[in-house]
Amino acid sequence: MKVPLLDLKPQYAQIKDKVLPEIMDTIENQAFILGPKVAKLETQMAEYIGTDYAIGCSSGTDALILALMALDIGNGDEVITTPYTFFATASSIHRVGAKPVFVDIEPDTYLMDVNKIEAAITDKTKAIMPVHLFGQCVDMDPLMEIARKHNLKVIEDACQSIGSTYKGKGAGSIGDIGCFSFFPSKNLGGFGDGGLVSTSNKEIYDRIIGLRVHGGIVQYHHQEVGLNARLDALQAAVIMVKLPYLKGWTEGRRKNADLYNELFKDNANIVTPVEKSERYHIYNQYVLRVENRDELKNHLSANEIGCSVYYPLSLHQQKCFSYLGYNKGDFPESEKAALSTIALPIFPELTEEQIRFVAKTVNDFSKS
Ligand SMILES: *Cc1c(COP(=O)(O)O)cnc(C)c1O
Repeated sequence: MKVPLLDLKPQYAQIKDKVLPEIMDTIENQAFILGPKVAKLETQMAEYIGTDYAIGCSSGTDALILALMALDIGNGDEVITTPYTFFATASSIHRVGAKPVFVDIEPDTYLMDVNKIEAAITDKTKAIMPVHLFGQCVDMDPLMEIARKHNLKVIEDACQSIGSTYKGKGAGSIGDIGCFSFFPSKNLGGFGDGGLVSTSNKEIYDRIIGLRVHGGIVQYHHQEVGLNARLDALQAAVIMVKLPYLKGWTEGRRKNADLYNELFKDNANIVTPVEKSERYHIYNQYVLRVENRDELKNHLSANEIGCSVYYPLSLHQQKCFSYLGYNKGDFPESEKAALSTIALPIFPELTEEQIRFVAKTVNDFSKS
């Protein structure tokens, strides 16, 4: 039996009859950039996330850059974030000229340890950028309290967490700005790159609307230098067709996670993902912690089971960030996680038989 890490073809089969006419309609209209489809998607997404506004843009990375620019974060500023995340979290901070300042993660959730934030604050700190990694929200109440106390902005990197909640509030609706990605492997993916910014602040909304079109809402008149960071109408059409399915797909992922947890519960060599109380995990990734990670990875590959390591090298150890002056050992929990975690297939269309096969293959290996 072959089990891929992610197979988007069964999802496409579910939506094919609805998505192809929408794509054809977009092509017939020959209106490809922004326009009514993007505007309609923005309204629907704001409602889904729980904010007053949403702004479609070209990628999750550009969503983060637009968010930082809209808060006037740049040269000389510091932004506190996690070293255990996708590269774009920290690269966006670097890209606007600011300095990423890392704090370590919690060993059980792999999320930013909010107890470590205050020690990292300096008089240059402008914002905190928590990452709702793998589909679960950071402990936002204490984080927001710290932000308020020190007058800091909060940009939520919710690129892996659309539909995830914290105490009933949607990821991306708690801080000043939320950032989302429609990269195809995210839980709500387009047929290419795309992203979205969420906010309930009208000033920030107006600013980002301009920033995504070269900093000028009136064409050829520029208030400031922005980006070309627009969302394609074709992507909006695809995402709009998929949105009504997202709740069901998320439930499918959660059901798969429950079954894995059950099948791994007697194996003392495996640490399964933790869902904290009052949080709704959407399992963009189902990540195990194991002793002999690299051997397990090889074993799964040999058995034609897809798996991946998110992420093998913490950001403070990346060559491009050596100028930040961090050393090995500075963030021990991130470094440990980078050496011991592995993601298994979790997409909603997996069959029970496939999940049992994956779990058995893992258990047979990890018990020996
Ligand atoms: C995917 C992702 C991004 C970037 O999104 P793109 O659409 O690929 O640019 C940023 N942060 C995190 C945590 C992500 O997972």
